[in-house]
Amino acid sequence: MPEGHVLHRIARDHTKWFVGQKMQVSSPQGRFQKESKRLSGEKLARVEAFGKHLIYHWRGGQILHVHLGLYGKFHHYKNPPPEPQGAVRVRMIGSRRSYDLKGPNTCQLLSDADFKRLTSRLGPDPLRDDAEPELAWKKISRSRVAIGSLLLNQSVVAGLGNIYRAEILYSLGVHPERPGNQISREEFDQIWELSVRLMQIGVKANRIITTDRRPAGKPASRLSAAERLMIYKHPVCPRCRADIQSWNLGNRTIYACPACQT
Ligand SMILES: [Zn+2]
Repeated sequence: MPEGHVLHRIARDHTKWFVGQKMQVSSPQGRFQKESKRLSGEKLARVEAFGKHLIYHWRGGQILHVHLGLYGKFHHYKNPPPEPQGAVRVRMIGSRRSYDLKGPNTCQLLSDADFKRLTSRLGPDPLRDDAEPELAWKKISRSRVAIGSLLLNQSVVAGLGNIYRAEILYSLGVHPERPGNQISREEFDQIWELSVRLMQIGVKANRIITTDRRPAGKPASRLSAAERLMIYKHPVCPRCRADIQSWNLGNRTIYACPACQT
């Protein structure tokens, strides 16, 4: 599943390409036809991301909510777009560019109340300027759940996923099984600051990059996962050469160094 940086990057691109334009909206597959009619011809006012959720605000007050889930994908085109291929839930055509959205987990119109409910159940998002990390600290510092699980819980921190949690905890020397209430305030502040910094890099590069030790002269777009990441799916610790351990934590596979993370 894409992590929050992907959605923020899409929000940024769609803002640049579509905001202020009257969009032609359709549902070639038919599953979003009724809703498409309510959006088509309306001006797009704003696009934003909250964690892994993408929200489109329209001048007429409509709110479109997209969550990609495991299989959702955007296909972008310069106009005119090609004939729709496969199950295209939504096709949006702006003045110069367009996209097809296929296979989203969620694609629905929200009322103002639905929108408030959605955002209020999400934790602070490190990529949003209005994030309140204090809310995450309150939940983490009172919990006996492992920090590795807490960081995946979207109601604690919105946007972090399986790769970022492993990389951030490794980078700070925090063992993923340590309970939330044994994380110090200083450690939490470091987790938050590193999340902000790494996810901002992720939005810019459009991929997760957590290490500075990269092959010289190779552009970010051509780095392999092993070159971009410190520990995720790595066999040995880059610091101490101990074998990396992996196990299931919070329904996903976590990676940690038994020597470097306490
Ligand atoms: Zn190590």
